[in-house]
Amino acid sequence: MRYINKKLTIENISVENIAKKYGTPTYCYSYDRLKENINNFKKNFKSFSPLICFAIKSNTNTNLIRVIKKFGLGADVVSMGELMMAVKAGINPKKIVFSGVGKTFEEINYAINKNILLINAESESEIKQIEKIAKSKNKRVQIGIRLNPNTDAKTLSQISTGKKENKFGVNNKTFIKLVNFCKRSKNIYLKCLSVHIGSQILDFKPYEKMLKEISKILEKVDHKFEFIDLGGGMGISYDTGQKKLNYNKYSKAIKKFLKNYKSKIIFEPGRSIIGNTGTLICKITYIKKNGKKDFIILDAAMNDLMRPALYGAVHKILPSIKSGKISKRPYEFVGPICESTDKFTTLNNFQELKEKDFIVMCDVGAYGMSLSSNYNLRPKPVELLIKGSKIKIIKKRQKLKDFI
Ligand SMILES: *Cc1c(COP(=O)(O)O)cnc(C)c1O
Repeated sequence: MRYINKKLTIENISVENIAKKYGTPTYCYSYDRLKENINNFKKNFKSFSPLICFAIKSNTNTNLIRVIKKFGLGADVVSMGELMMAVKAGINPKKIVFSGVGKTFEEINYAINKNILLINAESESEIKQIEKIAKSKNKRVQIGIRLNPNTDAKTLSQISTGKKENKFGVNNKTFIKLVNFCKRSKNIYLKCLSVHIGSQILDFKPYEKMLKEISKILEKVDHKFEFIDLGGGMGISYDTGQKKLNYNKYSKAIKKFLKNYKSKIIFEPGRSIIGNTGTLICKITYIKKNGKKDFIILDAAMNDLMRPALYGAVHKILPSIKSGKISKRPYEFVGPICESTDKFTTLNNFQELKEKDFIVMCDVGAYGMSLSSNYNLRPKPVELLIKGSKIKIIKKRQKLKDFI
């Protein structure tokens, strides 16, 4: 995204033109950016060619998953719906891993029927359930066990998953017990140790610590794991000047780890693949002056983009046309929903805005549309894929008659 003659453009198309043609609010994704992210991700870890499983929950659009599949990625899924979507988008089940603490009988049954690469189990009860279903089918099922490495990811507490107080994975003691259980089972192949310590991680040190914890446990168990699944969580820059994750250091730490343990590495990135490819175009419905600040009331709301309301996340906001005139009053960007958390951010010294102007919210490709809802019976936005000068509708705007 950049300004050309003061007009904000995505690849070769101005935001203004997109908004006028497709209405607002509108999610737009850049094909070029997606391709670049995937290539960069591969390049960062190319010395040990990992299996990269895109975390479907970050963006569930079939067309985008198809593009991701075209570049050779597999999928990390957390529900039957996501597994079905990944298969529908053409991802080879042998590149699909299934994570999550509460997989139901139906979900496990379906995953076994699809012969996916790994079911990453998160408890003793789940492993017993998998074994029972596998036995009834006379099959041997490939699984991983998710370790909780008790590692602080140094990210927002709401998206931290690798500390001992979090519900994810099992502790060292249980892990060892479960490895021994699996080794005795005729219906389970224990192939993988998996971890995922959280999301939006910008410091490589928690990853380094996580690798140390994995090494420690591998020394204690007498079992050769074909795969080590390190999860996702790589952070992106939501703000200009925000620090970046040092992929080089992370990659070096993994290489060092692989000297002792010859396993295939799996990653499950979501945000780092799709996050900065997406923007949400919104229109200003009203501007309301209130005391010292102005409320910029948008036609997009927390149901369209929930991250600010859910985790206090902040997305950069840009005007669709640059005027150079700065407002003296602070702007509070809000949606029309009847909740005080339906608020995006407050900014000082923003460009002067008028009613009916368009603005965009940046870096909403991950956990944007996938977290959207119909709260307040608001139809979900249209999703567009921009490739050069071409626009493709990859999901239609919902219509009220779809649910009324
Ligand atoms: C959410 C999740 C991911 C993806 O996390 P990102 O921060 O989007 O990379 C990967 N693995 C598991 C198990 C997850 O729950």
